[in-house]
Order: sequence, then structure tokens, then C-alpha cells
Amino acid sequence: MSDCLFCKIIAGEIPGNVVFENDKVFAFRDINPQAPVHVLIVPKKHMANVLECDGETAAALTDAIREIAAKEGVAESGFRVISNCGHDGAQSVNHLHVHLLGGRALPERMG
Ligand code: 5GP
Ligand code: ZN
Repeated sequence: MSDCLFCKIIAGEIPGNVVFENDKVFAFRDINPQAPVHVLIVPKKHMANVLECDGETAAALTDAIREIAAKEGVAESGFRVISNCGHDGAQSVNHLHVHLLGGRALPERMG
């Protein structure tokens, strides 16, 4: 999608600090990290959020989460995955993304 920020990062039109890439998934560091490890994991195919996510994409994202967590050294200590959806979910970029947060003990409160 031409006016989508994350599509532009995936296409290399806007620089992103890439941590992972395969044929379906792209991952890069959040520009405003909320934890020592804060990676955004996105499908290469544009879709707005989880409401538009198909099973194949969900599986590819899950596999990437596991691989990135290991690569970032948080698989054993633990981490959090969040996907904000829509207005009340405070989604600010309308390209499906999963936040992977870790590297410190995260607060119990989620909202
Ligand atoms: P949301 O609020 O939609 O769940 O998350 C969007 C995330 O994208 C935010 O955490 C924000 O910091 C991140 N973000 C916004 N613009 C950019 C950018 O240009 N580059 C990167 N790497 N992250 C961005
Ligand atoms: Zn997009």
C-alpha cells in the first residue's frame, strides 16, 4: 500500500533497523522503544490489523516471534507480545504489527 509507513519500511523506502526477514515476515526495532528489546513484527503483505489476518500469516508471525525471541536472547527470561487493534486498542499504524517486548521484567498491568 503506497501510503503505508510500514509498507515503505518493508520496501526499504524508509530506513528501518531490520532484525529479521523471510518471504512472509519482516521485523525491525521500534523507533520509540518501551523496553530494552522492542521489535515490531509485520507481515510483508499489507493488512490493517488482526481482523484481516489469515491463518497462514498468523502461523508465519508466530514462527517469527519464536525465532526473534531466541535471537534477541529473551526466549528463556520471557517476553510479551501485543497487537493493538483499532481505536480503543490505540493502534497508530494501520499495518498489522506485533510488538515483541522484553529484556526487563514488564509491569503486570496491561491497560
Ligand atoms: P501501535 O501504536 O500502532 O501499536 O504501534 C506503532 C509503533 O510504531 C509505535 O510503537 C511507534 O513507536 C512505532 N513507529 C512509528 N513510526 C515508526 C518508524 O518510522 N519507524 C519505526 N521503526 N517505528 C515506528
Ligand atoms: Zn502496509
